[in-house]
Amino acid sequence: MSATYADFRSDPLNEKLSFDEARNSLEIENDAVRRRGTRRGLWVAVAVYVAFALPDQWLIPDVAPVTIVARFAVAAIALLTFEILRLAKARTLWLDVTCAVALLVGYIGWLAPAIGTSDAAAMSYYMIFGAIFMMGANLFFSFPFRLSVATSSVVLCVFFVTIEEFFPSSTTYKIAFGLFYISCFAFTSFVNWSLNSERRKVLLRAAEARHQHWEATERGKALLELSHTDYLTGINNRRALDRRLDECWTVWKTEGRDFSVFLIDVDFFKRFNDRYGHQEGDRCLTVIANALKVVVEASGGMIGRYGGEEFIVVLPIDNSKTAMIIAERIKMEVEFLAIAHDERPDDRSIVTVSIGVAFTRQQSVEKVERLVREADLALYSAKASGRNCIRHFDPALPLPDDSACKLIPLLAAAIDRKLVSLVYQPIFDVTHEKARAVEALMRLKMPDGTAVSPKIFIPLAERTGAILELGRWAIETACRDILMTDRMATVSVNVSPIQLRSPGFAASVADILSSCGVNGSRLALEVTEGLDMDMQLEVLKCISDLRALDVEIWLDDFGSGFAGLSWLRAIEFQTVKVDRTFLQDCSTPRGLTMLRDMVALIRNRGNTILVEGVETAAQLSLLKDLHIDRVQGFHMGMPVPAELLSAA
Ligand code: GH3
Ligand code: MG
Ligand code: MG
Repeated sequence: MSATYADFRSDPLNEKLSFDEARNSLEIENDAVRRRGTRRGLWVAVAVYVAFALPDQWLIPDVAPVTIVARFAVAAIALLTFEILRLAKARTLWLDVTCAVALLVGYIGWLAPAIGTSDAAAMSYYMIFGAIFMMGANLFFSFPFRLSVATSSVVLCVFFVTIEEFFPSSTTYKIAFGLFYISCFAFTSFVNWSLNSERRKVLLRAAEARHQHWEATERGKALLELSHTDYLTGINNRRALDRRLDECWTVWKTEGRDFSVFLIDVDFFKRFNDRYGHQEGDRCLTVIANALKVVVEASGGMIGRYGGEEFIVVLPIDNSKTAMIIAERIKMEVEFLAIAHDERPDDRSIVTVSIGVAFTRQQSVEKVERLVREADLALYSAKASGRNCIRHFDPALPLPDDSACKLIPLLAAAIDRKLVSLVYQPIFDVTHEKARAVEALMRLKMPDGTAVSPKIFIPLAERTGAILELGRWAIETACRDILMTDRMATVSVNVSPIQLRSPGFAASVADILSSCGVNGSRLALEVTEGLDMDMQLEVLKCISDLRALDVEIWLDDFGSGFAGLSWLRAIEFQTVKVDRTFLQDCSTPRGLTMLRDMVALIRNRGNTILVEGVETAAQLSLLKDLHIDRVQGFHMGMPVPAELLSAA
């Protein structure tokens, strides 16, 4: 799982930082700083203490050898003790106590030999340095208040005992020096107390600030998480996924680490809502989302709701085969949930999903959006292949350009908005010299009225799956326009291979026939050669179901693709339509021979022959000579709306 994804969740170790915890952590930090300060202080104090060997020598030379030895001894013992305790990680209080004791021993260790000097006058001045020890305890080190006062009190007492017992001096001296010592003790103790209470306040304020900072960070994290969560399902929303997509894209661009994008769409979900209600629909989406989350996250991917009943998965992965395996797992997971959906128009009765998969590839262009588009197109193709399946984006297929992409939503709504219509072109019976049938041709116009070429919108409708609805609508409309009104004996309607492959197609044709009350034999479905052969089984099954309804199956554009002959062998077509290019080539002897051979081949198979694209009288007479059964083309009649048919 990515570090960024983990960022979205709160750190369990940092669940709650109370004020007390903030204070404790600050005390620990302060303690470490104080230990370093105390150590530095002791070394400086010891250095100064030892340096005072020189004044000893000048002021009290008679006892100086002893005081100097005492100074060095005290210094060595104090430092040694302190360093041992520090290395043994003794508590800070013990380090303080060591310094305090060192201070007292240093004071007494100097004072005791010093007062034995014969130069009482010099010593009476030198005594003032006792105050330095007092200040050291109260101000120089940052001892706790009680330790400071205890230490400086001892210094004060020693001073009084010394001048009273061992160092008799004048009363004036005693009063002046005594008062000096007392006031020094009082002031420095007070300053120590204020410093300590100030330190305490600073610590409390810092703890409060730290606690508030933590609270603010947590609130920020919670808000961030909320802004990345889908309100309904609780999984990531599109914003979170967009961020992840950008990250993966950058890593792919810089380090070449591949990734895959899946778009997952719930099949026939509108009908699910209509049947079970919107609330149940919401529940269904939540259940699916959370089940998929488990599968996807176990594979190291990230899933989010892309919008409506569509989910998106971003999966760092090094090959597209593994991506397909994981997509399969996702599809199965939804099937395992077995959520009932008995309002589906196909033969399944549980909720399923269709998945479009795209994978990074060197040729793919500069933007991550393109990869999502590819997954989207793959999803369309999954929808078109009958749903509950996975399709991988096929770079070999041309990508619809941007203007064509604008047609996609239009195609989905074309029937409701009446943008699509049918026109009919007559098919002449050569022997009877009469139109016996018409071919229905689909036309699409933009909302502003401009026509869109079938060469553009039909392949797009096939890619997006819109062809299923449009195709069904065309069959029904043709039956109503032509057969129910008896405008013509037969109507032929083009069907896409995608329709033949979609489950339940034959059943929907049966529905139409019975609702219009017309005989199946009056309907012909035109199939273009060139289906992928691996799809044949489903197609053959569908064709045989249609034949059982008496519906005729015609082979369209024969000779234009590669698979014509194998089609002719595999399927019993009632009529074969020779591609218009063969007639156009008849102006040359070679072209004419080709057409004759083609006609002979079809005739030997026993199919009715129809030649399309007849534009001149000469072409028509040639076809009569060849004993062609049926002809179609501008020469006989243009495609017109049903109402104009009899007039034409
Ligand atoms: P297809 O198999 O082609 O995907 O058909 P579909 O009906 O699933 O797709 P379509 O895009 O036509 O309809 C999507 C439906 O999803 C329409 C909408 O009511 C429903 N939907 C979108 N968002 C929500 C939601 O948050 N809750 C519920 N209950 N339904 C939603
Ligand atoms: Mg949808
Ligand atoms: Mg759907």
